[in-house]
Parts: sequence; C-alpha cells; structure tokens
Amino acid sequence: MGIDEIIKKCEHLYNDLDFGYVKAWKEKTGGKAIGYMPVYIPQEIIHAAGALPVGIMGGGSNLEIIKGDAYFQSYICHIPRSTIEMGISGKLDVMDGMIFPAICDVIRNLSGMWQMLFKNKYVKYLDLPQNFDPEIGGAFYRYEIEDILSHVSQITGKKVSPEDLKHSITLYNENRKAIKSLYDLRAEVPHKIPTSEVYLLLRAGNILEVTEHTALMAQYMTEVKKRDIKPQDNIKVAINGAFCEQPPLGLIKALESSGCYIVEDDWVLGVRYIQEPVATNKDPISGLVDAYLTKSVSTASKYEDKKEKGEYLINSVKETGAEGVIFCMPSFCDPALLERPMLAAALTKAGISYTSFKYAENTGQFRTFKEQTGTFADSIKLWGGV
Ligand code: SF4
Repeated sequence: MGIDEIIKKCEHLYNDLDFGYVKAWKEKTGGKAIGYMPVYIPQEIIHAAGALPVGIMGGGSNLEIIKGDAYFQSYICHIPRSTIEMGISGKLDVMDGMIFPAICDVIRNLSGMWQMLFKNKYVKYLDLPQNFDPEIGGAFYRYEIEDILSHVSQITGKKVSPEDLKHSITLYNENRKAIKSLYDLRAEVPHKIPTSEVYLLLRAGNILEVTEHTALMAQYMTEVKKRDIKPQDNIKVAINGAFCEQPPLGLIKALESSGCYIVEDDWVLGVRYIQEPVATNKDPISGLVDAYLTKSVSTASKYEDKKEKGEYLINSVKETGAEGVIFCMPSFCDPALLERPMLAAALTKAGISYTSFKYAENTGQFRTFKEQTGTFADSIKLWGGV
C-alpha cells in the first residue's frame, strides 16, 4: 500500500460514524466490541478478554446534533453532545459496552446518562486513581482493572489467563513503540510527515485491531522515508490542550498551512498515555498498574502534587526542538482551560513563546485560527518570539 492508499483508509475510518470496520470485525471473529472515551484506558485488558477496544472521540464535524444538545447545558463542551447523539441514534449499538475513564465531571455525568439510557449494556465509569502510592492508588487501580476484566470476560465468554494478558501487553507495547518511532521521525523531518497524516493514523488506531494498526504504521513509515520534499521556512510548534474533544481535521490542516510544523501534540493520547513499555516479566496486572503509576504522561486530568507544573511540556518542547507552543483547547473544557494559565506561566519563565485559542469539534471556519498562528510563526521567525 502506498501513502495515498494508507491515508485514504485512515480517512475512511475517521469519517465512518457507523463503525463499519467494527461491525465487520465482529462478524468475522464472533468477538465483542467495547467503546471507550478519552483519554486513557488499559486497552490490553479488553484485548486479552477477546474484545475489540474502540476509541470514541465524539462525532467531529460530520455529525448533525439533533437531540444531543437537550442533554447538556449551553456552557458544556461539545463531545458529550455528539456522543449522546451517536448513542441515541443507534450508531453505537455495535458496542457491547462503554467505558468512561475519569477525566472531568462532564464525562462522569455522561457515564451516568449512559447507564440510564442503555440499561442492557455494560457501562463502566473507570475512576482512574489520582493517588500514585502503590499501596493506595495502585491497590485501587488493580481492583478497577480486575473489575473490568471480569465484566468483559463475562460478555465475551473468554476466561483470561496471565499468558493471554501478557500477550496482549506485548502487542500494545509494539504498537506504542511504532507510534513513538513515528513521532520521533516527525520531529526530525516534519516537512516529510504532515501532522494531518499522523493524526489520521492515530485515529485509525482507535478503531483497528492493534496488530493491524501496528502493521499500517510500519508501512507508512517505510513509504514516508522515501518522500523527497524540501523543508519550508516554517517554525516548529507543540500543541497542547487537545487531549479530549478533538479539533476538526480542517483545523489541523489550517495550522500546518499557516507556517507551522507540528512536532509535538497531545491529541489521541490513547496508548501514548503510557510512555514506556509495560512490564511483562511479572504478574501482568501489576505491570499495568505500575505503568499507570510511574510511566504515564502529565496531562490536565491527572493530579500531580510532586511535579513542577509545566515541566513535562517544557521538556517535550526541548526534546522535539519546538520553537513555541500553541494552546489549542476545546471551548468549555475545564481541565484544559484551568491548567493553561499555570502552563503559560511556566513557559514564560522558561522563555518559550505561546499563543492560544479555543475550538469545538464542529468548528467550520478556520481562517481566524490560521491568521493567528501565521502571525505567531512570523513573530518567532522575525523576532525570536513574542
Ligand atoms: S473536552 Fe474537556 S470538559 Fe469536555 S469532556 Fe473532555 S475533558 Fe471534559
């Protein structure tokens, strides 16, 4: 498959709100599908239990909201509206269960609505611990993992052995490694790897069975290295704040065409939430617990009292060679918007320029964003920052 074909396939998966791939996978394998909301769940346990984990990131800009708005106040972000819309219009009927990881009150309330609306489906609010002591948060998280494992096993009828779980962890470690290689390569030669393509590849990972996704990434990497494209006079930027509700693809393309090479981002964190391989040399559930406690990213939905706010972002800016940060956040996203001033203060202290704006997943006009980031890029090129 060439690059065009790979991206076309990813684009089809991205646009298909009826989850044709998931339906076909279920028919082919006789397996079940479990949907999950951003930002992170340990997909390995779903996979080990014989189900397909499916990342649901709202309806994007292609879904007309007819009833979803009636469930939420006007000052709430957009992703729960489009998710409810997909649910009540039957688009998510293919899911045999839904997991709502703790990220904010909106997602927690959405999980409650789901329990009331879809009484015959498995619905789990995954209360990811905010305490990172292995004896406290770790013990609690282990209980949560075992709880999900037992429910999904009941749904699929598959009893999961430690070997099954180790195998799934290994497959997800390979996937994580493939994504990291792609991100490293993009930071090195961003002119060859448009982020609009990287983004679509990541979104495909929400849907595809993990081995198929890893193979697709490897194929893309092989092909993209052959590209002969000269670098432009663009600046390198890191994107921050887009970890849950997603910007429309058109907005990502607008940022790229405004003179910015995106070399770091926090959208579609998924398996990237865990930054190093999950250990398989011990009890596999302990490996997953330890990975969450000690190897997970810093993000707005995670409470870290012992770390300096912004340290993670500054380090990633330095590592990727970014010359500035674009805070690109969903409107009404409390976690992102409350964290932004603290991150901005840390960037100012570190002498790193930034600009910021808000979007909704169904934003349709990108001109003003493009003008803003284009001006940001020019100011860095001309004066070395703002
Ligand atoms: S976009 Fe922000 S406020 Fe909305 S559900 Fe996601 S994390 Fe919560």
